[in-house]
Amino acid sequence: MVAGGAETVAFSAPIWYHCFMKKKTTVYEDKLEREEKRRRRAEEYARKHTVACPQCGRGVLDHMEKCPYCGGKLTPAGYTPMSKKKLLLIRGILFVVLMAVAIVILVFFVK
Ligand SMILES: [Zn+2]
Repeated sequence: MVAGGAETVAFSAPIWYHCFMKKKTTVYEDKLEREEKRRRRAEEYARKHTVACPQCGRGVLDHMEKCPYCGGKLTPAGYTPMSKKKLLLIRGILFVVLMAVAIVILVFFVK
């Protein structure tokens, strides 16, 4: 009788096992749900932003400047290329900041 009782204990799963398994399944389902949501959002975006190419009639995204199928010129909607002046300004700021970082690294960390 004592031995039988010990056997029952040995064959039952630990008390935390079910909690762990349940949690793991929930995490997996959350991930699936998130992926499904992301996929739906991407589809919605593609549906909303697809226009027909005037040259070949195939669906292209409305921000494209050139058709990826026929190479024809497209007029992008809701998107204007960055002006040269702004581009140069951003490049200049980036150059100064990166040079400052490089100097700091050279001065303080290289011996
Ligand atoms: Zn085209």
